[in-house]
Amino acid sequence: MALVDCEECGKPVSDRADACPHCGWKHSAWDSFLNPTPHPTKPRKKWKDMRKTEQLSWIIIFTWLIGVGGYAVLNAMFDI
Ligand SMILES: [Zn+2]
Repeated sequence: MALVDCEECGKPVSDRADACPHCGWKHSAWDSFLNPTPHPTKPRKKWKDMRKTEQLSWIIIFTWLIGVGGYAVLNAMFDI
């Protein structure tokens, strides 16, 4: 919880308050004022929260990338 200055009367108001207790100004607009991004980005999914199939698909993608990348490097270096 933080105190912010009321845009209408300038007195300190809790940012959780729906309306200013001093002047009664509705602070519904504060959400966009305090959080410029209207839809905050979701926190990135943690590895352990993923399902096993999702983990497996990521492992396959990384393995494939490393394999293809490694082959490309070897190909360039040794002209296989
Ligand atoms: Zn006010």
